[in-house]
Amino acid sequence: MSTWNRNHRPQTLAAPVSLSGNGLHGNRSCTVRLVPVDRATGLVFRHLPSGTDIPVEARNAGDLTLATTLVKDGIRLQTVEHLLSALVGLEVEHLLIELSAEELPILDGSAEPWVAAILRAGVQTLAGRRRFIKILRPVEVRQNGKWIRVLPTEGLGLRIRYTIDFDHPAIGRQSRELSLTPDKYRRELGAARTFCLEEEIDYMRARGLALGGSLDNAVVFGSDGPLNEVLRFEDEAVRHKMLDLIGDLALLGAPLAGLVEAHAAGHALHVALAQAILDQPEAWTWAEMPEESERKIQPHRSFSPAFAAQA
Ligand SMILES: [Zn+2]
Repeated sequence: MSTWNRNHRPQTLAAPVSLSGNGLHGNRSCTVRLVPVDRATGLVFRHLPSGTDIPVEARNAGDLTLATTLVKDGIRLQTVEHLLSALVGLEVEHLLIELSAEELPILDGSAEPWVAAILRAGVQTLAGRRRFIKILRPVEVRQNGKWIRVLPTEGLGLRIRYTIDFDHPAIGRQSRELSLTPDKYRRELGAARTFCLEEEIDYMRARGLALGGSLDNAVVFGSDGPLNEVLRFEDEAVRHKMLDLIGDLALLGAPLAGLVEAHAAGHALHVALAQAILDQPEAWTWAEMPEESERKIQPHRSFSPAFAAQA
């Protein structure tokens, strides 16, 4: 459907849509209502019990050890990355996200239920142009042998090259590359579930984490392979890392145009890259996608002023 091709206009949803479920770590119920906006506001969370609005921006990032957290005025929103990933993946970049609690539902551990909700609601365009952060110079962040960087590319797309290398027989080394489009997001990334190692579970539970975790919302890798009956993709782990990266890059506040290469990265490095980009304004510029009609009409303008005037 053409709606899901890359759009030059900012997009929001066509209608509100709600989803409920329990959080992965606190195991408490949360209802999320995605509410269309009437102008390009970016993505903004609203914690209903306190009335606190938290824009999706890198300066509001909190703890990043197991999930991406946004913090403002004492409110701490946990596990925002899968919803943000679905929104960025489908180019819905302007929305009010109302929450009844501080931790988002984990659902099936992937972004697929969010994708389905977005498709149910449909999208509509807003006035103005989509603005991109177009990378002009490389930006890199390194940390104990793990690294992530962004390099300039032609055009206004986001290309991702991601490698993970787990010293664990069931995961090992996985590498994948993808040029992001809404269709590719839906087909190749959205359904990839979050994962952990069986040996990490006791450690997390002892710290009051992953209390809502089960084989219904995460892939658990034991020494002989996944404890779940089937994987959705042979390389589901690296695909989920790419899904997480796309969600974490939402903290840039605008879509990114460039090539992101990540090696053994995670939430902390993803968000560190977003922060490093914003901290280096000489490494990027704002860019707008030309309108489809302008691209087609432009060659005629030199010999048909009347036609150009109409357009
Ligand atoms: Zn994740």
